[in-house]
Amino acid sequence: MKGYYHSKETFGTVDGAGIRYVLFLAGCNLQCAFCHNPDTWKRGSKMIGSQEVINEVNEYRSFYEASGGGFTMSGGEPMMQPEFVAEVFHLCKKNNISTTLDTSGLCAKEAFMKVLPYTDHVLFSLKAALPALHRKLTTVKTNTAIIENLCIVAKRKPVTLRYVVMPGITDSEIEIAAFIHIIRSLPAIDLSVDLLPYHKMGIPKWKALKMPYSLDYVEPPRAEVMAEVKVQLTAAGIRMAY
Ligand code: SF4
Repeated sequence: MKGYYHSKETFGTVDGAGIRYVLFLAGCNLQCAFCHNPDTWKRGSKMIGSQEVINEVNEYRSFYEASGGGFTMSGGEPMMQPEFVAEVFHLCKKNNISTTLDTSGLCAKEAFMKVLPYTDHVLFSLKAALPALHRKLTTVKTNTAIIENLCIVAKRKPVTLRYVVMPGITDSEIEIAAFIHIIRSLPAIDLSVDLLPYHKMGIPKWKALKMPYSLDYVEPPRAEVMAEVKVQLTAAGIRMAY
């Protein structure tokens, strides 16, 4: 089976444990206002076969094994091509390669049920806890389905829950309270939170694509802002990834 992809990275170090082969699939159904890779939104024509992916992973296998790394499927949104992800992950497991899924969680529940049996770890990015804020930051009307999927995933697999801290937007008292509420209501087996500071490095890509960037006025958070959000989460008994 073949999948639409945007790019690959053979020595990825930020998308899961150790050194990883990261395949960025093309296509995204969220289209976040702060996306730093808007060039991944459209599918384009680049395709790769599942066995071809495994052959490439095997080329660098010694590095992945020595570092405790493996294979990460990212995007765009990989769960828009669940059959392909499931097939590649299945082949990874047959070849003893660890698998990480990097997703924003918007897809049918059945899609997760296809992929999770072959998934070791999930990086789940929740864009906003409050539905109204989620609507503002993405093109999706509500985050209900995403939170339901987060629940399905957290019940079955270790999850690193990623959350972008944007000063004055995602760090408000009411939003953080809603974020804590969601996490505490999850039947999680192994969940930690990774707070990511908002950055503006993707703006040149928006300009190159001639798309208006609506968050020009937002500045990256100061260290104190990151620390304050961390304090609130840890005080609520939530484990941090770092
Ligand atoms: S889900 Fe990820 S790839 Fe898609 S728009 Fe949001 S940040 Fe960009």
